[in-house]
Amino acid sequence: PPRNSNAARDIANVLHPYTDARAHQKNGPLVITRGEGVRVFDEQGNAYIETVAGLWCASLGFDNERLVQAALKQMRQLPFYHAFTGRSHEPAIDLAEMLIERAPVPMSKVFFCNSGSEANDTAVKMIWYFNNAIGRPEKKKIIARIKGYHGVTVASASLTGLPYNHKLFDLPIQGILHAGTPHYYHCALPGESEDQFTTRLANELEEMIVREGPETVAAFFAEPIMGAGGVIVPPAGYFEKIQAVLRRHDVLFVADEVICGFGRTGSYWGSQTFNMQPDILTCAKALSSSFLPISAVMVNDRVFQGLADGSAGLGTFGHGYTYSGHPVPAAVAVETLKIYDEMDLVGHVRKVGPVMQEGLRRRFSDHPLVGEIRGVGMIGAVEFVSNKETRANFDPAVKIGPRLVKIAEGHGLIMRALPGDGIAFSPPLIITAEEVNDMLDRFGRALDDLTVQLRR
Ligand code: PLP
Repeated sequence: PPRNSNAARDIANVLHPYTDARAHQKNGPLVITRGEGVRVFDEQGNAYIETVAGLWCASLGFDNERLVQAALKQMRQLPFYHAFTGRSHEPAIDLAEMLIERAPVPMSKVFFCNSGSEANDTAVKMIWYFNNAIGRPEKKKIIARIKGYHGVTVASASLTGLPYNHKLFDLPIQGILHAGTPHYYHCALPGESEDQFTTRLANELEEMIVREGPETVAAFFAEPIMGAGGVIVPPAGYFEKIQAVLRRHDVLFVADEVICGFGRTGSYWGSQTFNMQPDILTCAKALSSSFLPISAVMVNDRVFQGLADGSAGLGTFGHGYTYSGHPVPAAVAVETLKIYDEMDLVGHVRKVGPVMQEGLRRRFSDHPLVGEIRGVGMIGAVEFVSNKETRANFDPAVKIGPRLVKIAEGHGLIMRALPGDGIAFSPPLIITAEEVNDMLDRFGRALDDLTVQLRR
């Protein structure tokens, strides 16, 4: 890049999240300067449809005057206050009330944080504290799932079930275990029906709990649809069977709704799409349509009563962030949830989601490189295979996902490659049917280019 350009200054100064630092020194960034609707624009003025809403999060797209005004108004009135020991402010109160009203199951209280990782770390600490408070300190192991994604702080990275979040960091921490992935396409045994598959996964979970000792297992964490691990949609009946196991052993159920919350799957919560009844629910991202960082942990009454008993008996729940419930992001989140209601965002996803799901399947199922197309509502993935019969993915050296992402940029799409040769689709939820078709047209042209490139 030219000297003193933004790209050159970036290379000189910025260490990026989730980035191969050596490659970045060579390739530099795509610098995005502004956004409009489902599109973002680079420094040269090129437009890109954001097929993943940034990081599965910018539900209202990349401009919204009401959210701007909500932030300004709150900044003028009270730009910061905290919520420690006996202090509060209206934006956090309003937002907590709105979340409780909208919760998929009766919830009692809301704890605010700033990111999905922090929300999941907070849930882990609440679970440990809760079991201490109710007199069973040994019940503290937590089970998450292989390929689940729950964040990158030390506890949430431990919950995450992806090797590269663990191997160089000496993770997972002690007492965090991983159960099997509900991915029928890859994980079912030969001849196994979906029903048999989900029964086996539930049995394996139960065996794990019994092996560890049910008196030592505190909680199970799950995303309704696994997002970053590959957009893995559980077969029908999976969560019912899993929850029956959890209830038998008094294991708390935590739904990580960081991606699925607020309409992504065609219901307000992924928990509703998949019949989940969590004791604790974490959410972030679309809570503020990502205009400002904020996340939340909702707990049901049983958990709240335990926490309250704990603070009476053991001492204060010693956890919280300077910016827990920061008034400016909280005010923006309140406005975001109002907008979702007014525009009937869930109804919109129910109409336009099928255009994306059916469009992906109709156009690309028969493509020689495509193994599986999966998704629900406005979240989906196309997975590439080197052999449709064996369902084998490509040699990682082929870098099929990153190659397609690069080609797609030239066709006006910002895309995201997933582990296991997948490409994600999770556009802003405001996307129209026409824009979905435009996105799929462009994806089709990128896929054609990739096919030609691979034949060479
Ligand atoms: N949980 C899920 C399901 C996520 O997808 C993510 C991020 O992508 C997180 C947690 C972590 O959130 P954050 O990146 O805000 O820490």
